[in-house]
Formats: sequence, C-alpha cells, structure tokens
Amino acid sequence: MRNLILILGDQLDADSSAFDDFDSEQDAVWMAEVEEETSYVWSHKLRIAFFFSCMRHFRDYLRERDIEVHYQELTHRRSDDRGKDFQTVLRKDIYNLRPQKLIVTRPGHYRVLQNLEDQAEESGLEIEIRPDRHFYCDVDEFTEYADGRKSLLLETFYRQMRKKHDVLMTSSGDPEGDNWNFDEDNREVFGKQGPDNPTPPHRFRPDDLTQEVLELVEKRWSDHPGSLNNFTLPVTRPQALQMLRDFIDHSLPKFGTFEDAMWTDEAFLYHSRLSAILNVKLLNPRECVEKAVEAYHSGHAELNNVEGFVRQLIGWREFVRGIYWLKMPDYAEKNALSATRDLPKFFWDGQTDMNCVRHAMQHVLDHGYTHHIERLMVLGNLSLMYGADPYKFHEWHMAMYLDSVDWASLPNTLGMSQYGDGGIVGTKPYCSTGKYIKRMSNYCEGCRYRPEVAHGDEACPFTTFYWDFLTRSEKKLANNNRMALQLKNIDRKRDKGELGPIREHAKHLRESWAKQ
Ligand code: SF4
Repeated sequence: MRNLILILGDQLDADSSAFDDFDSEQDAVWMAEVEEETSYVWSHKLRIAFFFSCMRHFRDYLRERDIEVHYQELTHRRSDDRGKDFQTVLRKDIYNLRPQKLIVTRPGHYRVLQNLEDQAEESGLEIEIRPDRHFYCDVDEFTEYADGRKSLLLETFYRQMRKKHDVLMTSSGDPEGDNWNFDEDNREVFGKQGPDNPTPPHRFRPDDLTQEVLELVEKRWSDHPGSLNNFTLPVTRPQALQMLRDFIDHSLPKFGTFEDAMWTDEAFLYHSRLSAILNVKLLNPRECVEKAVEAYHSGHAELNNVEGFVRQLIGWREFVRGIYWLKMPDYAEKNALSATRDLPKFFWDGQTDMNCVRHAMQHVLDHGYTHHIERLMVLGNLSLMYGADPYKFHEWHMAMYLDSVDWASLPNTLGMSQYGDGGIVGTKPYCSTGKYIKRMSNYCEGCRYRPEVAHGDEACPFTTFYWDFLTRSEKKLANNNRMALQLKNIDRKRDKGELGPIREHAKHLRESWAKQ
C-alpha cells in the first residue's frame, strides 16, 4: 500500500485535501469509531449517535465509489473493540496494512494531532499533515494576521475577511448597506404574543444504518445523558444541503432580527442549526455564505439578517479557529479568574427550579443544542458567575452539544463564555443579572424567582451571583475599561448595605448546589 488516508469523525468531506492525488489502486482510507471519544467526556447519547451515523454513511459513500476503507465499527460488546483509542487501533492497522505513508487533513483537535504524529513516529512512518481547505482562513494566514498585533479583535479580522473574499461588498469596495455591522437591528424581542410561527427544522427519518447506530448507543452507552427520541438529524451530504435550503427559505429572513431572543419550548426559533453538519464537514461554509448572499440580492432576506449569518461564518467561526491554533496547547490551561468549582448537577440532568435554566437544559438534553444566547447568557453566564472551572465548562460543552469540536468549543467556552483566557477572545466577561433574561425571553414569567431581587428567598440566582461575581472579581477586572460602569455600581450596592446579604446568599447557594 502506498498511502493510508486517515479520516477523522469531523472530516467527512470527499473533496478535502486528504483526497488530493488519491489513487484507489494504491491507496486506502482508514476510519475508526473509538470508545475514548465517547467517554473521555461523558458524551450525550445524541452526540455519539450523530457522529457514528455520519461516519458510517460517509464510509459507505466512499465504498460505493470503490474506495477501500478500513473501518473500526464498535459493537455492543466492548470486548470486540480492537483498541480503546485512535492510537491503539491505528498502530494495529499500520502493522497489518504496511502503508508507506500516512496522510491526514489537519485535525480539529490539538491532542489528536499530537497522537497521530506520535504514532507515525513510533511506526517509523512519514505523516503528511495537509491544510484544511474547509476554512476560509488557513492556520498560517491567521498566524501572519496576528503577528505584531497587541490584541486580536473580531471586528478587524471580520472586515479583512469580507474584503478579501468579496462578501457583501459593493463594486466601489464599501460594505453593502454602507455598514459593517447591524447589531442594533438584531436585538429584537418577541413581546407578549411570542414568536410568529417559526418553521420547525426539517426532520430526517432515520434510515436502517442510523437505526443500527441508535440501537447500539442505547445498549452500549445507556447510562449517558440525553435522549435519542429526537434523532431526526441530517447525516449525509444531500441531507445537509437540504437543511441549508430549508434554513435559507424559511428562517433566514428573521434570523438576525431575533437572533438574541429566547422563548419557552422553542429551542430553534429562526436559528440555522447548521453548525453540527458544518463542523463534521458535510457542509462547506462557502456554500452557506453564497446562498445567504443570493437571498439578499434576490430580496428574499434583508441585509441585517444576512450579515448576521455571514458574520458568524466568515467572522466568528474563522476567528476562534485561528485563536485556537495560535494559542494551543497553553490556551487550555488558562484560568484568569482562578475558578475551580465543579458544575452543579443540574448541568447534566436539568433538574432545577430556575425556569430559564430548566428550559435551556431541556433543549440540551432533547436536541444536543441550544442557540447562542442560551449558551452564553443562560448556561454560560451562570457557570461563570457561580465560579465553575472554565476547562470543566468546556468539557461539559464537548459532552453535551452536537456541534462541539475542540477548536470551536475551547475558545467559545473557556474564552468567550468563561473569560478563562483573560480577554483574548472576548473583551470582557459576559455576565448579567436575571433582568437581561427577563428582557430577552418569557422565562421569568413562569419562574418562582424574581429577576430584580438579589437576596432572600425570592432572589433570582443570576442576580445574586452577578453582584457576588463582580465583587469577588473586582481587583482582577479593575483594569478592563469595558467593565468600569458595571464595577462602579458595586459601590451603589455597598452604600445601600446590600452587599453583605447578597454575598451571604451567594455562599448559601453555592454550598447547596455543590451538595446536590
Ligand atoms: Fe431565570 Fe431568574 Fe428569570 Fe427565574 S427569575 S427565569 S432564574 S432569570
């Protein structure tokens, strides 16, 4: 055998660089389901099923094209496994197949890249790491962009990407609509009447292959969190394209306007839910951007909605990946606020009387998904202010969300959400009282707590922890100009004599949550 092409679970793209110069007469593909990926964090059942179903469909797609695929398929008997982790299985397969060289597109996980390189060295083989063309911005290009800059700002990077790739730009080189940013238009809430019949996402009926995976997951990982009842996810390339069409046709016209709003029992609203299929590479961001821009030019969707979607793809997604590779491996160790607590138990089972958290957690348990405001301003906000270890929050996110892959999750959770990186990704901690949640949702209407109350039996835990968090982080955040106003308000609480009872109440809450 000439080359063994390694395809990981988040690299399901037949046009990826790993297949350049592939010769089916001399080369073969290697893929493996491994126990380690399901249990190094306690993965949601839906997440395991999604990855394995996508991988098995991709394997069969390649075999139908006469490509030889060596695939470790897990069964319900752990004793059948040929190895617990990638490295062990790969070592055995290298021994049996005797390839001359290993080829892989750059993995999305620092640890996996190290393991593959180690294994190649141990086996005395060359390994060729090829660039991941899925992304607009290559790792080297981002390193060059970051070189010499004191701080890295999304907005600067995003504008550069828009210009470079000529996305939503006029012929005279200005941004479409004469504005780079429509955030002001994109903070609408629903009001008393609620959302206007959002179209539910297309439901893909599980085929026989997916059914087999669902039965396997139910048997082998029965004690893992979440449920498989809602498995209607896309698992093939045609289904991924259908999901994109569905989003552009039905949800994009309202996506931006209501992107920060939340509503009881509406997990998806006008959000795309494309991140999971993008992150396993069944979908390419260029085709998403192209379709969204077409919708703007045809008059189907207004600019604020389209720009908000484009910003997520060529701005934020590319920016966090660049940071990940620029800063790893030290980035994973960062803990700027010295937060060390374990997450409360309700982050795994949703059992809490906080209405917003219970609903957001139900979305996680049912769908392996919440939209970005429920992630950042409900679950992330609470974890930050409670004082959970930022890496543990990342591990939880990796376990529970379908779209979590290390390069995306780590900067978004440890960085943006938990401020563990001290301001590399975001410019300030995203913390708020319950009043923010009240403004953006109807959650507080059905809650036993009151968002404006900071201590006592009716106090909203978000509000209690907000003041407690600011007070205990005051010194560490004192030099952050963007926090100046929030920190100044501590004096107001202090003058009113409220800080003592608030901090006492926060202590009591922390102790009771830790005991659960
Ligand atoms: Fe959440 Fe507080 Fe509102 Fe209850 S009162 S729903 S805990 S923000």
